[in-house]
Amino acid sequence: MHPIEQELDNQILILDGAMGTMIQPYGLSEADFRNASLEHHAIELKGNNDLLNVTRPDVIKEIHLQYLQAGADILSTNTFGANAISQEDYKTADLVYDINYQGAKIARETIKVYQERNRSRPLFVAGAMGPTTKLASMSPDVNNAGFRSVTFDQLAAAYTEQAKALIDGGIDLFLLETITDTLNAKAALFALMQLFDETGKQYPIMVSGTIADASGRILSGQTIEAFIISISHAPLLSVGLNCALGAKELRPYIQTLDKEAPFYVSTHPNAGLPNQFGGYDQSAEEFASLVYEFAKNGWLNIVGGCCGTTPQHIEALASKIKNLPPRQKPARRMQREGVTSHPEQGEYSGTSKSTNALSLQEFLQKVSEAEDEQSFLQVKETFEQNKKQYHPEQAMLINAHIFGRYQYLRSANKFAR
Ligand SMILES: [Zn+2]
Repeated sequence: MHPIEQELDNQILILDGAMGTMIQPYGLSEADFRNASLEHHAIELKGNNDLLNVTRPDVIKEIHLQYLQAGADILSTNTFGANAISQEDYKTADLVYDINYQGAKIARETIKVYQERNRSRPLFVAGAMGPTTKLASMSPDVNNAGFRSVTFDQLAAAYTEQAKALIDGGIDLFLLETITDTLNAKAALFALMQLFDETGKQYPIMVSGTIADASGRILSGQTIEAFIISISHAPLLSVGLNCALGAKELRPYIQTLDKEAPFYVSTHPNAGLPNQFGGYDQSAEEFASLVYEFAKNGWLNIVGGCCGTTPQHIEALASKIKNLPPRQKPARRMQREGVTSHPEQGEYSGTSKSTNALSLQEFLQKVSEAEDEQSFLQVKETFEQNKKQYHPEQAMLINAHIFGRYQYLRSANKFAR
């Protein structure tokens, strides 16, 4: 068991807040985004905040430290856009390794400094990987719906490069955040699974999606339920939501996550919705109260802030929720409540009420737990035998999940042939 899982079993962990909002007040100029080797770089680099890991690490360190002092248990690296695809906009794709390596190192060092000065709780570095600037499953061209600006393989290669550097720099876990296109997330997960396989070393993975509009879909058109299903083939630490909306607007979707997710649940919302100038007005107190209510309902394991949040927001949040019990994962929750395997109330109970088929949730969990050919075939067989007891839509979901797991196990060479 990874040390972060031990912590998560006992408490809600605090993730840090926004980086961009905190960089703004420094009033950095173009010169701050350059060093000797970038002196003659042909295009403007100001705004490429990830580059500051290399050119102004002191600024990033100072911000990390403020978040630790505010109560954050997890620092996310300043590497949201540090992949070859996003960096190409600044013609700095050749600096990807350096930006990520330094980003991880800076966060690690800040934790070390903090722990030397304070009697500290366990602290973790999450390597932040954003969605890149290109989408794999949607066309940027309104006249050509079939056009794609990036392929799955290009994405996977970019994520592999970024992830390697983050690992070398010393991260504890990965945070795939602000996912707008599930296919991009799948490419990232694919890259990580391959990397873990090659290196023989596993890292916990947090996955966090973004709701694009009030209909509750992420940008590539999936509902939260479908999103969970399509990423559950990977052994994730947590699944969650961040950005785009404020905490208030995320409420129903976090409730769905709590109900459906077989992993820990996280959220790091924006400080409300942006105002007409693109700024964020939600006070630390209001932000903290909203997230507190979710945590009090037992829906959350990891909480933090996205756009517009500051160390004040994180401090208010940390002090409010520190003593609340964490959410229990569904499997454990059922055990504790003495519920054994039969369909939950309100779910399709099938043709024969006397059978003891697993609930949809339990079955999906079981599929995710198949680690080799034998256990995979077993769970597939169980499904074939009990298929009729599920609503056709549920059966379709399970089938899709089995297929996803099959692909994963194949790619991870867990099959004999
Ligand atoms: Zn955000």
